[in-house]
Amino acid sequence: MKQEYVHYLSDTVKDLQPSGIRKFFDLASSMEGVISLGVGEPDFVTPWNVREAAILSLEQGFTSYTANPGLLELREEISKYLNTRFSVDYHPADQIIVTIGASQGLDLAFRTILNQDDEVLIVEPAFVAYAPLVSVAGGKPVAISTSPENGFKVTPEQIEEKITGRTKAILLSSPNNPTGSTLNKQELEKIAEIVERYDLLVVSDEIYAELVYEDEPYTSFAAIDGMYERTILLNGFSKGFAMTGWRLGILAAPKELVEVMLKIYQYTTMCAPHMLQHGAIEALRNGYHEVEAMRASYRRRRNYMVQMLNQIGLSCHNPGGAFYVFPSIRSTGLTSEQFAEELLREEKVAVVPGHVFGESGEGYIRCSYATSMPQLQEALKRMQKFIKAKSLV
Ligand code: PLP
Repeated sequence: MKQEYVHYLSDTVKDLQPSGIRKFFDLASSMEGVISLGVGEPDFVTPWNVREAAILSLEQGFTSYTANPGLLELREEISKYLNTRFSVDYHPADQIIVTIGASQGLDLAFRTILNQDDEVLIVEPAFVAYAPLVSVAGGKPVAISTSPENGFKVTPEQIEEKITGRTKAILLSSPNNPTGSTLNKQELEKIAEIVERYDLLVVSDEIYAELVYEDEPYTSFAAIDGMYERTILLNGFSKGFAMTGWRLGILAAPKELVEVMLKIYQYTTMCAPHMLQHGAIEALRNGYHEVEAMRASYRRRRNYMVQMLNQIGLSCHNPGGAFYVFPSIRSTGLTSEQFAEELLREEKVAVVPGHVFGESGEGYIRCSYATSMPQLQEALKRMQKFIKAKSLV
C-alpha cells in the first residue's frame, strides 16, 4: 500500500493479513502443469436441475429484490431441510436469513454479538476467515490448539482453560476446515455443559455437515439439549450442494438475534440474488440424491488419500468429514511453508501449509481431495518422488 494512504486506514484493518492460501494459489496459477490440492471447493459442477431453475428464473424475469431474509418459499424449504436433516426447528418467518455464503453469516454473527475486546474462542487449526472476522467486528480471537493425538478435537477442559470474564462465544466448526475432524453428540454435549455454565453463545459453522463419512449421524450443535437458544447456526449450499459460486448461505438463530442481524443485513446487502434463490429452492426440493452421490465419491477419495499418505511416510489421521486431509510433515524436518513451496516448485503439486490455519497447524499441510481420482493418484506419485529425492523420511 502506498504510504500516503496508510493514515486513512482504520486501526482495525491496518494489521489484517491477506489469506495465506491466496499466496499459494497465485504462485500455482503462474505455473504450468500444476496439480492443485489447494482449493477448498467441490470439483463437481452444480447439478443441472439447479442451474436450470436459476436460468428459468431469469427467463421469467425474476430480477427484482426479494424480502431481506430471502424468498419466503426458500426459507420454508430451508426450515424443512434443517428439520429433516438435523432435527432442528427454525421458523421460516423470523428465524432464517439467506446470506451471501456462510462467510457473511459469520460476519453478521460477530458484528451482532461482539463489543470491543469481547473474546471468541476459536478451535485451531481453523478456517482462515474466523480470526480476521472476529477482529473486524472489534472482538479478540482466542485460539485453542488441537492435535492429531486427540483427533484434532477440542476438549471441554481446553475450552474452560481459556474462558475469561470477556469470553462471549465459542466458534465451533464440525467438520472442521482444515483438519476434517468432526464432533459427535457426546462430545458436543460435554461442550454444551461449559457453554451453559459460563453463559456463552456458540457460533456453529456447519457448512460441511453434508460431507460426513462416518456411519454415526451428524449432530448439529443446535440440536443438543439446551443449546438451541444459544446457537447461531451457519450452513449453506456451497460445499454439500456444490454451489460455491452461487454465494448462498443459511443463517438460523433465535428470532431475537435474527431481528438484529437483519438490520445489519438490510443496510449492507438487501437480499441474496433473486434468480439464484430459485436455484436453491430446486436444490432443496430435488437435489438431495446428488448430494449423496457426491458424498460417496468424496468418501472413496478420502480413504485413498489417508491410506496413501500414510504409506508414503506422511502420518495422516482419518478425518470424519469435509474434503481435506491434514497430514503431518514433521518427519521431513521442513517447516510447512518450506514443504509446500518446495513441493510446488519441484513437483508442481500445490498444497496449503498448515500454519496459515493457526499456530497449531505448523508441521502439517492441507490437501484437498476435491479433485479427480487420476489427479490425486498423480499428485501422490509426485509427493512420494519429492520425499524420496530429498531422503526426507
Ligand atoms: N466455513 C468454512 C469452515 C469454510 O471452509 C468455508 C469455505 O471454505 C466457509 C465457511 C465459507 O463458505 P461459503 O462459501 O458458504 O461462504
